[in-house]
Amino acid sequence: MFRVFASSDGHKTHSDNQQRTVFPEASSNDEAHLRHVRVAILGAGFSGLGMAIRLKQHGHEDFVVIERAADIGGTWRDNTYPGCACDIPSHLYSFSFALNPHWSRTYSPQREIRDYLSCCARRFDILPHIQWNCELLNASWKEDNQRWYITTTQGQLTADIFILGNGPLSEPSLPPIPGIERFDGVMFHSARWHHDYDLTGKRVAVIGTGASAIQFIPHIQPRVARLSLFQRTPPWILPRHDRPIPAWQRVMFRILPITQRFLRTRIYWRLEFAALGLVYRPGMLESAMQIARRHLLRQVPDPLLQAKLTPQYAIGCKRILLSDDFYPALTRPNVEVITDRIREVRAHSIVTEDGREHEIDTIICGTGFHVTDTQLPQYIHGRGGRSLNDSWHEGPRAYYGTSVSGFPNLFLLIGPNTGLGHNSMVYMIESQITYILDCLRIMDRRHLRTVEVRPEIQEAFNTELQQRMRNTVWTSGCTSWYLDANGRNTTLWPGFTFEFRRRTRHFDPQHFDLIPQRASAHIGEAAPIYRMR
Ligand code: NAP
Repeated sequence: MFRVFASSDGHKTHSDNQQRTVFPEASSNDEAHLRHVRVAILGAGFSGLGMAIRLKQHGHEDFVVIERAADIGGTWRDNTYPGCACDIPSHLYSFSFALNPHWSRTYSPQREIRDYLSCCARRFDILPHIQWNCELLNASWKEDNQRWYITTTQGQLTADIFILGNGPLSEPSLPPIPGIERFDGVMFHSARWHHDYDLTGKRVAVIGTGASAIQFIPHIQPRVARLSLFQRTPPWILPRHDRPIPAWQRVMFRILPITQRFLRTRIYWRLEFAALGLVYRPGMLESAMQIARRHLLRQVPDPLLQAKLTPQYAIGCKRILLSDDFYPALTRPNVEVITDRIREVRAHSIVTEDGREHEIDTIICGTGFHVTDTQLPQYIHGRGGRSLNDSWHEGPRAYYGTSVSGFPNLFLLIGPNTGLGHNSMVYMIESQITYILDCLRIMDRRHLRTVEVRPEIQEAFNTELQQRMRNTVWTSGCTSWYLDANGRNTTLWPGFTFEFRRRTRHFDPQHFDLIPQRASAHIGEAAPIYRMR
């Protein structure tokens, strides 16, 4: 039987002690009773929480955060698999306005990041704004009163501004392998780890060799009877050099925050340098490939296994992984790396294309997430009732990954083409937040009711992005979750992150259709749109 488990790490949630408040149910004649907010934010992960904090810091109090779970953290709440940690150095992977001098290691473990986010939510008094266990069912822009009508599992509310901070790595992707629904053992996804299930002595199949799998495999390998790793494409892996941060350094960061800021800046520029190779000069990546090959040869003596683990595409085309313990785990006698494709799953086994049947008790899917094909766009309806899904039928596209034509007063955090293969996503999130805050400031100052990016501006922007994408390593011939169904990279930002920050420092009203407040007083009349020249 096919079973996918919810995460359970015994963590006490914020909603445990809170009385649930519910938005009123909507009906045609009780609109006046609907709760209305200036801003509704979807998700309390890094982006939604960061947005909420910055709103508060800028004097906005009239906002709500809609969170489907009972705790803060987004991907850092959901991914609780053994060994889960960040592969961006700790000092950089945090909000610029809330440095954490207490990180215990150079690469923070998941629990510390989740606790850091919880701590930020408390410190900046965001908890009272969060509606827990509240899942979005639908959001529709209503033309007559220029508002978002947001329907959730806890009722309906309306908002002037709707900000999606749901994150690109929130919908686990399960492999559509023939027969998988007939599997009679226990199966779960890495982002829904089943902590109550004891893997000791089990014959475990792991599908996938991405960032998640290479982190949990070294932790489960010593416990299981047999680990069969089904690898479709070998990843490029560089040494990680993770180490504890000494107590004296943590004291120093606390007493002299400038020292941590200095380190943070240094890490930022070191990582940023990689964009040169990934985006502009893929030839520069040769030295990184040599380091990765040496790492493999040092850690895996068996030439046959080395051959299985050697990638045949340019480094960086898929996400570059960091690990010091993945390769050694694969050399243990209870591990087999299987490179033949999976033909089918049976009740107690997996059969590969070579006809071999691998007996197993458990399948762990480290098979990643729905990124360019998420469900959420189906539930967001903009002007004329058109869904974001329909608007994106040729692949996701937006303006600076933040605004979408046809969707007034809607903003996306980590929207299309804002992802990174080389640096901290928090930097991109904060850039987008600055842009949205500046938009709100301009809306208030000029008494604007709505802003909506002009279609030709969005089109020109995306044409520029795709032109720049042509010479990057990401389009050099591998398959990856960076690419959409049409083979376009709609996920990553093709440039330096400081360029993105510079371009999003100020909201650019001349690129938007603007509707003033007073126009909406005449309900039913077509509102005058104006453009700045
Ligand atoms: P992923 O990188 O998308 O890897 C999925 C793996 O599953 C790949 O090896 C893929 O093979 C394989 N796979 C997918 N469908 C399959 C199928 N039908 N049959 C066989 N194999 C299949 O997923 P992830 O490891 O969960 O990581 C996703 C992203 O999360 C990362 O890229 C990263 O951005 C983020 N992440 C970050 C950290 C961190 O340290 N900050 C940690 C974990 C995850 P192919 O390569 O052949 O497609």
